[in-house]
Amino acid sequence: MELTLCIIKPHVVTAPHTLKAIKDIIILNNFHIVDSLITAMTKDQVEVFYNEHKGKFFYNRLVTQMRSGPSEINILAREDAIRKWRELLGPTKVYTSRFSHPDTIRGMYGISDTRNAAHGSDSPESAAREISIFFPHFSITKWLRDNELISPVPGRNARANR
Ligand code: ADP
Ligand code: MG
Repeated sequence: MELTLCIIKPHVVTAPHTLKAIKDIIILNNFHIVDSLITAMTKDQVEVFYNEHKGKFFYNRLVTQMRSGPSEINILAREDAIRKWRELLGPTKVYTSRFSHPDTIRGMYGISDTRNAAHGSDSPESAAREISIFFPHFSITKWLRDNELISPVPGRNARANR
């Protein structure tokens, strides 16, 4: 069991049929929606979130697009969630997703390299960092422990478990 951060980008949130289609894909693929919020990102949140892309030619348009309206931000849980969600998303760039991966979310609903429908964390470290930006009180460790999905910390929980 693993957690990932899924962001349904603003251009999809304003298109109810597309939003529903993506939510259906999430459910059909056995993801559990652990937490969800619909929010217009602040400038600070976008800049921290996309820090790795600062200075790239598409950065300003990325920030503008992500701030163009509310996004739907979901913490998703599933076995192998990070890899599986990115597989369902498809390639970043719309030309590649449309032509080589037409059945993916970005292949079906991406409308440009920037407005490519949705986001998925690319590693457990990214998932933890990204979740903390939008759900600052959410503890991944606690969630996994409460759901009995990780072994207890040796020594510490051993006593509690007796
Ligand atoms: P991914 O979202 O697949 O992890 P990246 O982390 O490389 O992709 O990029 C973050 C986001 O920046 C992309 O989802 C897309 O919205 C935007 N982006 C990436 N590359 C480009 C590009 N060449 N032109 C325009 N926008 C881009
Ligand atoms: Mg990325």
